[in-house]
Amino acid sequence: MLKTGFAAGLIAAAFIVAPASAATKAIKFGKLVDGSGKVTDNAVVVVTDNKITSVGTGAPPAGAEVIDLTAFTGIPGMIDVHTHMTYGPDPTTRASRTNATNMILGRDGLQKTLESGVTTVRDMNASDYLDISMRELINMGVWTGPRMYVVGCGLRATRSRFNPAGAPLGCGEGNGPNEFARAARQQIAAGVDWIKIFGSTGSGDDVTQFQTVTYEEMKAAVDIAHSMGKRVGIHSYGPGGARDAIRAGADSLEHATDMDDATIAELVKKKIYFVPTIDHNRYYFDNAERFKYPPGAKANLTDFIARNLETTRKAVKAGAMIAMGSDAIYEMFGQNTRELGWFVKAGMTPAQALASATTVAAGLMGMEKSIGQVAPGFFADIAAVDGDPLKDVDVTINKVRWVMKDGAVVVDKTRK
Ligand SMILES: [Zn+2]
Repeated sequence: MLKTGFAAGLIAAAFIVAPASAATKAIKFGKLVDGSGKVTDNAVVVVTDNKITSVGTGAPPAGAEVIDLTAFTGIPGMIDVHTHMTYGPDPTTRASRTNATNMILGRDGLQKTLESGVTTVRDMNASDYLDISMRELINMGVWTGPRMYVVGCGLRATRSRFNPAGAPLGCGEGNGPNEFARAARQQIAAGVDWIKIFGSTGSGDDVTQFQTVTYEEMKAAVDIAHSMGKRVGIHSYGPGGARDAIRAGADSLEHATDMDDATIAELVKKKIYFVPTIDHNRYYFDNAERFKYPPGAKANLTDFIARNLETTRKAVKAGAMIAMGSDAIYEMFGQNTRELGWFVKAGMTPAQALASATTVAAGLMGMEKSIGQVAPGFFADIAAVDGDPLKDVDVTINKVRWVMKDGAVVVDKTRK
């Protein structure tokens, strides 16, 4: 086994070291918002294979394939730090299919996500490690999709009445600090990039905020993850779980509605990223009838959205690092960036909103030197939008016309 792997590694390396001919592309933009805060008119971005090699204003290098996007503004490929790519469509029917079938149906969401200008996702829970399979298929080039960084099975405490005492623990499940540490080790051994902890109730039409994982359990999992070089995102719909997640040393905090000022101050002080995911409840609201939510669900969602937005507004004011996470699920893909509209409502400028999906999100990922900017040495992940994304967030949300991921054009709607 080892020998085969080594040989395969050598062959792959040979292809990278000595390509038949380096594929160089020069992309001309009318304007480039590169993510560093700089705006360049008549920019030329040179891409060799899957990396950006230069950004300037001169003539394209001789022999390069020229892509003329002078009618558009270039922005960095965006990063959605909270998705559920493997769940498949429609919650009312997905339970009747196998997890693998749902993952394969999720392929449609990969393309729609790219069309929204998102070229990297952090995927936040999956069954049977199907997120790892999806990541592998994309990295092998068999499927086209955003770069995926995955968590495997989210860590959780036993909650289901269908899991009687004494039954074997499900994937990611634990009760007590030792079992949470074990569950974290299992995910890492399986090959995940991040650890996710479901620290509270809340999902779909359920907007309750009960803390389900104790501080000690969170801390045990966080410590193991950090000791093995992995970051941890903790889901908490409510303020109690959020407070403990911050105390336990989470790297990102998901949802976290109704945090008080002291908790937000602590989040800012400890430089923990906040991922509000406001828009996913809008999606649930819009689909409440189709998803057969019980009476009252829409009112609950409306109330939760208002409080989620208010918490985000406070966090913006306090200077928190806020990253775009759509919590996209089922058929929500393609709407990944609608979250940015909420961020502007919460007090961000369009430029800050764009940063939440580029440089800030790259920081959350620990990839600030490789994604989130159009700069030499970075992955060639670039989007072209029709209009000025610094003036109007709607340009970023609804006017993506062209996307390059890893040096390949994956979306082209420039020809009408
Ligand atoms: Zn989620």
